[in-house]
Amino acid sequence: MDKGIIYLDHAATTYVKPEVFEAMKPWFTEYYGNPSAIYSLGRQSKKAIEEARAQIAYCLGAHPTEIFFTGSGTEADNWAIKGTALANQKKGKHVITTVIEHHAVLEAFDFLRKEEGFEVTYLPVNENGLVNPEDLKKAIRPDTTLVSIMYANNEIGTIQPIHELASIAREKGVVFHTDSVQAIGNIAVNVKELDVDLLSLSAHKFYGPKGVGALYVRKGIKMESFIHGGAQERKRRAGTENVPGVIGMAAALKLAYDNLEDYNNHLGKLSSRFIEKVLERIPYVHLNGDREQRLPGNVNFSFRFVEGESLLLMLDMKGIQASSGSACTSGSLDPSHVLLAIGLSHEIAHGSLRITFGEKNTEEEVDYLVDTLEEIVEKLRKMSPLYEEFVKNH
Ligand SMILES: *Cc1c(COP(=O)(O)O)cnc(C)c1O
Repeated sequence: MDKGIIYLDHAATTYVKPEVFEAMKPWFTEYYGNPSAIYSLGRQSKKAIEEARAQIAYCLGAHPTEIFFTGSGTEADNWAIKGTALANQKKGKHVITTVIEHHAVLEAFDFLRKEEGFEVTYLPVNENGLVNPEDLKKAIRPDTTLVSIMYANNEIGTIQPIHELASIAREKGVVFHTDSVQAIGNIAVNVKELDVDLLSLSAHKFYGPKGVGALYVRKGIKMESFIHGGAQERKRRAGTENVPGVIGMAAALKLAYDNLEDYNNHLGKLSSRFIEKVLERIPYVHLNGDREQRLPGNVNFSFRFVEGESLLLMLDMKGIQASSGSACTSGSLDPSHVLLAIGLSHEIAHGSLRITFGEKNTEEEVDYLVDTLEEIVEKLRKMSPLYEEFVKNH
């Protein structure tokens, strides 16, 4: 890794851990048989992906036949949502999600709404980004077939009470999906304890390779196949398997589960140090998300009188790689839908910064980050006419 760079954007992606890369390597060059082939080179690949499936199932508390490999977290979300909504549309065309979902979920619901005539209810969140279970109870109707609520938010880190929410849906016979892409690798996710029907994950968010994910589908859930073709993934998601990818995903998940407690403690310490120092040293900041119910490595601040993009560029010049927390699709100047949903004004939402820590970050890096931030925020505020006016009036 580049020595001059401090990487603080682990919610966007992570590097592949060396152990994971080692586990993947032979499956590119040596054992390249097609898992569908009947000769030994093929059977070897088939055996390896089934072992990876069993490993992933074991970590999640699922049965191996309930794990389906996908090409990304986005694909797992799309499949879960469109696959169940379309398969159950004779029962009803009302579906429920929240206003703070990842675009992979929101756009899948948009498709159902615009192209397939579904009605979508979007649950609100409170100022910390939490869904109120009572709101879900009230929203479920006789024609509701699906609820999708994310486990942990990618921008502000808020963790939802998924078990409670899933129970409400299941009591009414409604299928419950959770996008747990941010949660996996950060908290112990167990599908049986959560009692969910569908759950998405993506390897590159927990030190595995990019371009591979999985969907847990509880036995008996009615779903359309996502990709039609060969018999792979029990005919539900055709296409020759990404053998090195799924092996890497399984290795990364096992490492994550084995080290969860230490990892959490490490990230928690860095976040607390960062939050404390920023609140102590920089005025007019707001910590976004829930103080308790949040991912240990996620910190999202809004700095008043600061423009997020400028902040990011100036941090980059100091070697710090972070995110504006706006998950802005390039070119769009709209502030994040998540920050607006928790009640921030456009102006404040624009001055947001998302820091997501990872295993290699250190306390020294946090201190350097705080020093740098203090300097940059001061500089940017000095250039802001709004700030000048605010200071004059106070
Ligand atoms: C990253 C992410 C996704 C998308 O996963 P990809 O594998 O990058 O497609 C979906 N949901 C959440 C919450 C994410 O953080």
